[in-house]
Amino acid sequence: MSPEVSPGSARDRELAERLRAVRTRISSAAASAGRGEPELIVVTKYFPASDVRILAGLGVTDVGENRDQEAAAKAAELQDLTLAWHFIGQLQANKARSVVRYAHSVHSVDRLPLIASLGKAVRAEQERRAAAGTGAREDLRCFLQFTLDAGAGPAEASAGRGGAHPSEAAGLAEACAATDGLQLAGVMAVAPLGADPVEVFERLLRISAEVRGVDPAASAVSAGMSGDLEEAVAAGATHLRIGSDVLGPRPAVG
Ligand SMILES: *Cc1c(COP(=O)(O)O)cnc(C)c1O
Repeated sequence: MSPEVSPGSARDRELAERLRAVRTRISSAAASAGRGEPELIVVTKYFPASDVRILAGLGVTDVGENRDQEAAAKAAELQDLTLAWHFIGQLQANKARSVVRYAHSVHSVDRLPLIASLGKAVRAEQERRAAAGTGAREDLRCFLQFTLDAGAGPAEASAGRGGAHPSEAAGLAEACAATDGLQLAGVMAVAPLGADPVEVFERLLRISAEVRGVDPAASAVSAGMSGDLEEAVAAGATHLRIGSDVLGPRPAVG
C-alpha cells in the first residue's frame, strides 16, 4: 500500500512530535478538569498503513477508520501488530460482515437494522473462527451515535451524516444490550459545525446517563476531535478520536 519507512525518517520524527503534543494537551486538559485521562484513538483515515505502523511503534494501540475498504486493507496489511481498530464512519448494513472481521469497536451505531446486522455478522464470524480453529472474536463493542444539531427532529437526524435522534436513546440501548454478539459500550457524537462543543458534549453526557440507565456498564463516551478535545475531556469523554492533529492535514480524498 505504501513504501517502507526507514527508522528515524522525517515522517517518524514528525509523527512522534505531533503525538507528543496531543498527549500533552490531553494530560493538561484532564488535569485541569480533575479527571482521569481518556483513551486516545488516532484516526488514520486517508493515511497509509506505513503511518499506522510508525504510530504503533510510538505506543499507539487504538486507531480509527471511517471507510470499510480502506480499513480492511490496512488491518490486513498490519496483521502482525496488536491494534484495536475502531470503525467511526457511517456504516451500511451490507458492510457489517466485512467490518466485524477486523473491528474491535463500532462508534457509529445509529439504527435498529444496523444493530441486527452487526449482531448477526459477529455471531457468524465467531462461528467461522471457531470452526477454523483461529483466535476467538470477542463481542463487538458498540457506541450509539447521536446527532446533536439543536432543533433537528428525528427525520432530520437520520437523514444527515449519521447519528440517531436523542429520543431514540433508550430503544437503541435496549436493542443493543439484548443482541448476542454485541456489547453496548456507550455513546458517541461529533459536535456539529458551528455549534458550541461545551453545550453539545453536555447534552451527550445527559444521553449517556440515560443509556447507563439501561446498562450501567455502558459508560463510554466517545467525543472530542482535534478541534474540541479540551472541551470533550472537560465534559467527561472517555474516548477521544484525534486525526489531523496527530497525522497532519488529510490528503485529498481518493
Ligand atoms: C475524521 C474524524 C475524526 C478525526 O477528526 P480530526 O478533526 O482530524 O481530529 C473524528 N471522528 C470522526 C467521526 C471522524 O470522521
